[in-house]
Amino acid sequence: MAQIIDGKQVSASVKQEVKDEAAKLREEKGLKVGLAVVIVGNNPASRVYVNNKKKACEAVGFQSFEYALDENTTQEQLLDLVNVLNRDDRVNGILVQLPLPKHIDEKTVIDAISPEKDVDAFHPVNVGRIMIGDYAFLPCTPAGVMRLIASTGTKIAGKQCVVIGRSNIVGKPMAMLLLHESGTVTVCHSKTKNLKEICLGADILVVAVGRANFVTGDMVKEGAVVIDVGMNRLDDGKLCGDVEFESAEKKASYITPVPGGVGPMTIAMLMKNTLTAAKQQNGLA
Ligand code: NAP
Repeated sequence: MAQIIDGKQVSASVKQEVKDEAAKLREEKGLKVGLAVVIVGNNPASRVYVNNKKKACEAVGFQSFEYALDENTTQEQLLDLVNVLNRDDRVNGILVQLPLPKHIDEKTVIDAISPEKDVDAFHPVNVGRIMIGDYAFLPCTPAGVMRLIASTGTKIAGKQCVVIGRSNIVGKPMAMLLLHESGTVTVCHSKTKNLKEICLGADILVVAVGRANFVTGDMVKEGAVVIDVGMNRLDDGKLCGDVEFESAEKKASYITPVPGGVGPMTIAMLMKNTLTAAKQQNGLA
């Protein structure tokens, strides 16, 4: 039976580290870390994410600046706001909550954020830096996964790592981070053949597909570390991962639950990126 990787506990320790360092910056340098969160429209899920980010800022002692814009905000108005925030010294990190309404081009908006304040690490400059292994910010979810793997004491070097999913926010950067740690990485997607066989070879299996209970125990190698990034809302309102927990935990050595696994890590890593941004902008990192 697998040991459960407690994302709440690991994320609490990341937030505590950030809080301690933010307090030190305030006391020793008079510097208050600030994160601007921009939300456009009334998407209820986005609203929940934004509120959670604001709460996390309060918990670690950051200032948060919320900009809740009307659904009808034009792309130009949003770009104007991003430009103002790029120049605002109180703001160390800028996060534009996705998805944006259909009339706004997400890529244009992400490209407009100053790479130094792009704490989501979605700007092409930051994406490129992740590719060459010279990065300031790690994309929050994959960075959270790396921290969870580290918490198990598992060494990645030389291990067979399988990532299911190749999105720009999760799968691709995830594969790159595992590669930088010298894992032997296979990336699977919807056109992959023999998925089960590939998964059965994985010492570390990271699943980011977006389909409830997609990976079952018979696809998991005995003793594997299984990380479930999936967050799927079932008809009864319950949150469910991409991995069938009951069957997979019988095979894995370590496994993340959903909820309480990767989810809490994402916000903790966002706080860490914002702290890093503040230090860099003030010549302290
Ligand atoms: P996405 O953009 O929809 O990507 C899903 C990936 O899964 C795609 O690369 C797709 O392949 C692949 N896929 C789909 N069906 C497949 C199949 N039958 N076999 C193999 N691969 C298949 O999703 P995402 O943004 O990466 O998110 C993935 C999941 O993680 C979602 O449940 C999301 O809610 C969750 N998530 C959680 C967090 C967190 O903080 N915990 C953060 C972000 C995302 P193709 O490229 O070939 O289409």
